[in-house]
Amino acid sequence: MTFSDALSGKRGLILGVANDRSIAWGIAQVMASAGARLGFTYQGDRLERRVRPLAEKVEGEIITSCDVCDEKDVEKLFQKVDDQWGGLDFLVHSIAFADKKDLEKEYLDTGREGFLKAHDISSYSFTLLAREAAKRMTAGSSMVTMSYLGAERAMKGYNVMGVAKASLEASVRYLAADLGPRDIRVNAVSAGPIQTLSARGISGFSEIFSEVEGRAALGRGVTTEEVGNTAAFLLSPLASGITGEVIYVDGGFRMMG
Ligand code: NAP
Repeated sequence: MTFSDALSGKRGLILGVANDRSIAWGIAQVMASAGARLGFTYQGDRLERRVRPLAEKVEGEIITSCDVCDEKDVEKLFQKVDDQWGGLDFLVHSIAFADKKDLEKEYLDTGREGFLKAHDISSYSFTLLAREAAKRMTAGSSMVTMSYLGAERAMKGYNVMGVAKASLEASVRYLAADLGPRDIRVNAVSAGPIQTLSARGISGFSEIFSEVEGRAALGRGVTTEEVGNTAAFLLSPLASGITGEVIYVDGGFRMMG
C-alpha cells in the first residue's frame, strides 16, 4: 500500500498553519500530495491573509477562523465539518503558545496565569479537539499532535512549554486508551528544532539548533517535509498498529549519548 492508496480522499483538519514555514504546512503539503481533502484554521484577519492563500494552493475545502481557547469557535469549526463533510478521518494539532516572558526567566518563576495559558493552548486544546473530532470519526481514523524533547528533559529556555508538552504527551496516551476500542489512533511526533515563528520565541534557539547539528546522529536538523512524512504515515492505515506513541523525528539527537 502507498501513501496515496492509504490517504486519497480522506478528510482531515489541520490546525496550526501560520505561514509556509509552519510544521503544519509541511504536513499539509504531504497530505495534499497523497490526495487527502483538507480543512484549515487561522486566528483573526491578519492570519487569514497568510493562511488562506496557502490553503487554496492545496485546495483546502474548509478555511475558517478558530481560536482554540474559545469553545464557541471550536463548536463552529466542527459545525462546518458536519455541514461540509458529514464526518472526519484525521486531525492534526500543531499548536502551542507560551508567554515570551515565561521563556526568558527561570522556570521557577512561572506565574499561575502564564502556566495556565500555556497548558490551555498547548495541551488542553488537543483533548478538546480530539473529543469533538472523535464524535465524527469511524474505525481506522487517526490523530496526531506535535511535541518536543523539552517534554522529558529540562531544555534551557523551554520552561513552561516543556511542562505543557509533558501534559500533552500524557494526554496522547490517555486519549489513545479511550479511543483504542473504537479503533481510533492517537500519536505525537516529537520534532527536532526547526526555524519557525514559534521557535523564534524560544530564547537561545539558535544555540539549541547548532547543538543539534553537532550531536544528532545524522549531523543535521530536520525539515518540515520530514516531519510531514512521519505525520502522514501515522495518519494512514500503514500505521494501523501504532497508538499512544511519541515518534521522534530529530535526526537521531535524543538517542545519542
Ligand atoms: P508556528 O508556525 O508558529 O505554528 C504554531 C501555531 O500555533 C500557529 O499557527 C499559531 O497561530 C497556533 N496557535 C497559537 N495559539 C493558538 C490559539 N489560541 N488558537 C489557535 N491556534 C493557535 O510554529 P511551529 O514550530 O510550526 O509549531 C507547531 C507545533 O510544533 C507546536 O506545537 C510546536 O510546539 C511544535 N514543535 C515545534 C518545533 C520547532 O522547533 N519549531 C519542534 C518540536 C515541536 P497564531 O500564529 O495565530 O498564534
